[in-house]
Amino acid sequence: MTKIARRNTKTKTANARAAATKASTPRAAIKPREAKTAKSKSTGPKRPKVKGIGRAVKAANKSVVRAVERSHGRQSAEAMLTELKRRLMEISDLSFAGAVLNWDQATYMPAAGAAARGRQAAMLSKLAHEKSVDSALGRLVDALAPYTEGLPHDSDDASLIRVVRRDFERAIRVPSDYVERVSAHSSASYMAWTTARPANDFATMRPYLEKTVELSREYAGYFSPYQRITDPMIDDYDAGMTTESVLALFAALRHELVPIVRAVCDQPPADDSCLRGMFAEIPQLDFSVAVARRLGYDFERGRIDKTHHPFCTKFSTGDVRITTRIDEADIGQALFSTIHEAGHAMYEQGIDAALVGTPLGWGTSAGVHESQSRLWENMVARGRAFWEHFYPALQAAFPEQFSKVTLETFYRAVNKVRRSLIRTDADEVTYNLHIMMRFDLELDLLEGRLAVKDLPQAWRARIEADLGIAPHDDRDGCLQDVHWFSGGIGGSFQSYTIGNILSTQFYGAAIAAHPEIPDEIARGEFGTLHKWLAMHIYRHGRKFQPNELITHTTGEPMTIAPYVTYLCHKYGELYRLPAGSAGVPPAPL
Ligand SMILES: [Zn+2]
Repeated sequence: MTKIARRNTKTKTANARAAATKASTPRAAIKPREAKTAKSKSTGPKRPKVKGIGRAVKAANKSVVRAVERSHGRQSAEAMLTELKRRLMEISDLSFAGAVLNWDQATYMPAAGAAARGRQAAMLSKLAHEKSVDSALGRLVDALAPYTEGLPHDSDDASLIRVVRRDFERAIRVPSDYVERVSAHSSASYMAWTTARPANDFATMRPYLEKTVELSREYAGYFSPYQRITDPMIDDYDAGMTTESVLALFAALRHELVPIVRAVCDQPPADDSCLRGMFAEIPQLDFSVAVARRLGYDFERGRIDKTHHPFCTKFSTGDVRITTRIDEADIGQALFSTIHEAGHAMYEQGIDAALVGTPLGWGTSAGVHESQSRLWENMVARGRAFWEHFYPALQAAFPEQFSKVTLETFYRAVNKVRRSLIRTDADEVTYNLHIMMRFDLELDLLEGRLAVKDLPQAWRARIEADLGIAPHDDRDGCLQDVHWFSGGIGGSFQSYTIGNILSTQFYGAAIAAHPEIPDEIARGEFGTLHKWLAMHIYRHGRKFQPNELITHTTGEPMTIAPYVTYLCHKYGELYRLPAGSAGVPPAPL
């Protein structure tokens, strides 16, 4: 249940992205600025350094520093590094300023301000892009290369130069006028979609989407040659992955998922009527805030506001905000979307403050970011232990609704599995099938096997084949996701499924290190888990490539095995499946 639709601008120049991102694009707002994958120089993951070691190493490499100084006149390596960071801070500040405008647009701005706001955001995006492709930046990176060669791979400075170089090389491939054109198209398309979707009006969106496909192909063209057209976009979001590697991952997961979905959906559905009714807004918000605070989201460095599509955004290390959506008829909406966004926000709040203001000051990839929101939302907050602690408080907040509902009934309700039309309402078991469908359809669109005019029919055919249901209209069909109507298409949906897979892998590693975590959760204590995530994931920001971080943290590359085991065990038990039908494993994760 991630309500993180996002304006998915494919401007993707590393430093223009945040500024180009629109407010209603939640995930993009916290989206790490990915660079084109460059082969890591590392021969393998190394233990991240303790802060401060970089400076010690720097002192020990004075001869290298002197060599750099000789080759660049009077300007020392220290001075050049300071100048580089000053320039990066300017770019970062422009991006954060754009994020403030976008947050405001999605929360408090009157609708009539949209046109001017679009223009203002585009201007900030353009300025950030211009600064990010300034040749002086490239010269500084080149001049500092000899200095960083003497530093460990995982030092702050070496990581900074490595990532800035990747970002720069990527940014200069994309012309400024393209960034502006995408930004303008993004605003226009999004505004049209906000009325076309409720009106079930695909005809209005068709020319916008055709142009989006065209612009996305143009974007890929700047990174030619590539094997598949979505490779450059995937590299933006999940560096190190390719279209082929995502397809292989999805094929393996699909092979495991389909029997589980079938086995679960063959059972009588869970009764989730207790989640529907009348739940006043204030106590819902109060409860959600109390839970987020308890999990570890720091409200001294953040805040929560209402919006239509919940998202997380960041303006500085001291200001990481979340938004939520409250539905008085459905208590699950605000609660789980708040926990989800708090998961994203805790990641951003946990990044080493010294990295913020540079390209290292973001989560390492969209998939890893999503794993952190899913971990808290699903592994933790849809678990029985969590509700053993929190359910009495929920009953006290809503006595009329829950006093006669047992914990077990509530637990089953929040984990109900059903074949559904809307991705953001999908459960843990069926969710990934929604993602695979979108990934395939956008690949077909971009590679020319599917025309935009035929998309509604292709959508209906695919969801019927995968889930046995079909939407009555396009509103609940191909118009439902903001992603395709925000100026860019391709290379981003996989992050959701990667996030699901990694959420179990990271959670399993945390529990292996601290077997006491489940018992702590049942007592409403989350400090051990939060600290482990902060130590092994959050603080590093973007210093490591996703595959480096995953292998270093969990001991192996991304694998679907823990995720499949988790689903089989949890839903096998919930739906009383006989062992073997969905492969109920012998032991829980
Ligand atoms: Zn998310």
